[in-house]
Amino acid sequence: MAADRTPVMTGGCQCGAVRYALYSEPTEPSICHCRMCQKAFGNYFAPFAGVPMADLAWTRGKPGIFHSSELVERGFCRDCGTPLSFRYVNRDRISVSIGSLDEPARIRPDIQHSIESRLPAFLELHTLPGQTTKESIPAEWLPKLASRQHPDHD
Ligand SMILES: [Zn+2]
Ligand SMILES: [Zn+2]
Repeated sequence: MAADRTPVMTGGCQCGAVRYALYSEPTEPSICHCRMCQKAFGNYFAPFAGVPMADLAWTRGKPGIFHSSELVERGFCRDCGTPLSFRYVNRDRISVSIGSLDEPARIRPDIQHSIESRLPAFLELHTLPGQTTKESIPAEWLPKLASRQHPDHD
């Protein structure tokens, strides 16, 4: 039973309606540039790492599921929209979105998938000029930007 085990990592959606625990170290950390991952994340690519099905427990709520193809189930929070999971239905494995982990910096992707769909801007992102949040936002806005996001723990 999941309750008897100590999670290796935890994560969840932005609003906190859906939380999960992983009971083994995620493997095959990757980013995927395919057009479906771009759309599902509203982003240039999607970062994932996965565990055997038995090593993920949904500990609060359950994700909504969209079958983006016959072989793929994508889980997301129905309340806040956070992309949470990806699964090939013919594999005993489920991946979570790296950004939804409470400590996403613990995972470093080691491969890029579907590079034929890589958007041109991707290769230049790290060369863009950078600003801190305080440099980007008027000071008087900052009090109203206090996070309502669920904290990075249960
Ligand atoms: Zn949510
Ligand atoms: Zn993809």
